[in-house]
Amino acid sequence: MKQIYLSAFILAGLMSCNNAPKQLAEKTAEQDKKEAPSVIVYEEYSGEDPTKPEETEVYEPVPPKVNPTEKNGAPSDAIVLFDGKNFDQWISTKDSAAVDWHLNDDGSMTVKNKAGDIQTKKNFGSVQLHIEWKSPAEIQGENQSRGNSGIFLQNLYEVQVLDNNDNDTYANGQVGSIYKQSIPLAMASVPTGEWNTYDIIYHAPEFNAEGEKIKSATITVIHNGVLIQDHTEIKGATSYIGWPKNEAHGKSPLRLQDHGDNSRVSYRNIWVRELD
Ligand code: MG
Repeated sequence: MKQIYLSAFILAGLMSCNNAPKQLAEKTAEQDKKEAPSVIVYEEYSGEDPTKPEETEVYEPVPPKVNPTEKNGAPSDAIVLFDGKNFDQWISTKDSAAVDWHLNDDGSMTVKNKAGDIQTKKNFGSVQLHIEWKSPAEIQGENQSRGNSGIFLQNLYEVQVLDNNDNDTYANGQVGSIYKQSIPLAMASVPTGEWNTYDIIYHAPEFNAEGEKIKSATITVIHNGVLIQDHTEIKGATSYIGWPKNEAHGKSPLRLQDHGDNSRVSYRNIWVRELD
């Protein structure tokens, strides 16, 4: 949105001119800093100020109707990636073969130790993602080896899943972090063994024809209703070792992590709404 910024510099300039008494000029300049608002004029709201309510009513475009729970709790325009029945939307990351994780009777799936990550068959760009996860009630391991999994947007950018209840670790690798890039605003986990929800708004990065990044990915994460990542810039792939690097890529799968240490994290009710 085009914005035109107008400052109050003319007023400040008049008040601080040489002819004005020094005390008055200083006071006014100080007041000006505190009180004078910046004026932002939006192009579509410039011109004559309307005098009738009808002049500011807009009827098009009409947003599409979405039934928020039509698909067994998922919105009518969502792509349901996992509803507990099968792994039809997923493949093994290491060999593209059928998923070898546990499919449970309660409509969830559980990471099978050392079976490897799984990823969606479909590629995604910007999405709204809903996903639920649970750490195993039986506690094993500590630090990064307790209930560790992860949700990788576009196969590259990890939102950490970890059992952090009475289990400290580095803050930029704790539950809800953008792994090794962004500490969450809060630790909002439910007790170990209960279901957590992540609601994620993710905007994919943009690259020019030369492969240079022109816009970083951004992510907002709501953990059990609590905002923990607020339009966070993702600076590159979330690496275990090394600085984040961002090479050009297009739409890519959503990936779930097998951390390889018997972390036994479970997932259920996974759906996305595509935003591009
Ligand atoms: Mg992880």
